[in-house]
Amino acid sequence: MVRLLAIGLILTLASCAPDSAEAPRASTISAQNAGDTRNAKQVFEAISFASSQPTESFGGHSRGCVAGTVQLAETGPTWQAMRLSRNRNWAQPVTVDYIQDLSRFAASLPGWEGLYVGDMSLPRGGPVSGHVSHQTGLDIDVWMLPPSRLNLTRAERESLSSISMRRAAGAYTNSSWTEEHMRVLREAARDPRSERIFVFPGAKVAMCNWETGDRSWLRKIRPWWGHHYHFHIRLTCPRGDRACENQTPPPPGDGCADAEEWVRNILNPPPPDPNAPPPRPRRELTMADLPAQCVAVAASE
Ligand SMILES: [Zn+2]
Repeated sequence: MVRLLAIGLILTLASCAPDSAEAPRASTISAQNAGDTRNAKQVFEAISFASSQPTESFGGHSRGCVAGTVQLAETGPTWQAMRLSRNRNWAQPVTVDYIQDLSRFAASLPGWEGLYVGDMSLPRGGPVSGHVSHQTGLDIDVWMLPPSRLNLTRAERESLSSISMRRAAGAYTNSSWTEEHMRVLREAARDPRSERIFVFPGAKVAMCNWETGDRSWLRKIRPWWGHHYHFHIRLTCPRGDRACENQTPPPPGDGCADAEEWVRNILNPPPPDPNAPPPRPRRELTMADLPAQCVAVAASE
């Protein structure tokens, strides 16, 4: 846990970074793009539309890209995409279906008109400012702020802020946290399309204490730094995307004891580990760091 806390100090600099341990697999590193030193974030952030290729995710959530994405409609009957200027409402079709389904569920709850959807992916995925992951069209940030209306203007979607759900640095939920939040998160986790959901530790413990029935969905709820203004849903690789890399599955069990340990460590931080390696600054990814297919994805019409 001490080692995890040290990593966390580095990762809190990024707004959404729940997957530091994910290393590239040798199989995706090809000689084809070995010398491509272009900054991958600059390459992918400069492209404003999807590639005209069959839909497919390449690589891992933190080191990959996605071909043939679709765009989440800016406004739907039960959702609005936020921060439209970022052009991050693109994803795999399964991701768009998933968030629409979840927003319909949210709209059935008292006080919720649906969901405010934060960052998904760039039109072709790839590295994106403010995130470590969100690179393969399979990650979604959902605002914790319950939508009271779904007619926000573009300008309002730039200026409105979500609200924090935490107190005591994330050890506990605050008075904005409701049972409806837990119902939305439970629905998100019960969906077989989701692989992990990241939320601050106090929220996970609250859900562990709340659930009186089947606890198996709690396994997917992963405590992480940040994630008190939004929670982060990660989907599994679509069947058939053979170059898409899933994370190692979460450990068996509901993970509640682990979440309680996070909380204890927030309240009483352990002394620093004298043997911990010094934090290494995160290097920006180059095109050569991504799966070779991502060069073609970026170059596609
Ligand atoms: Zn995220």
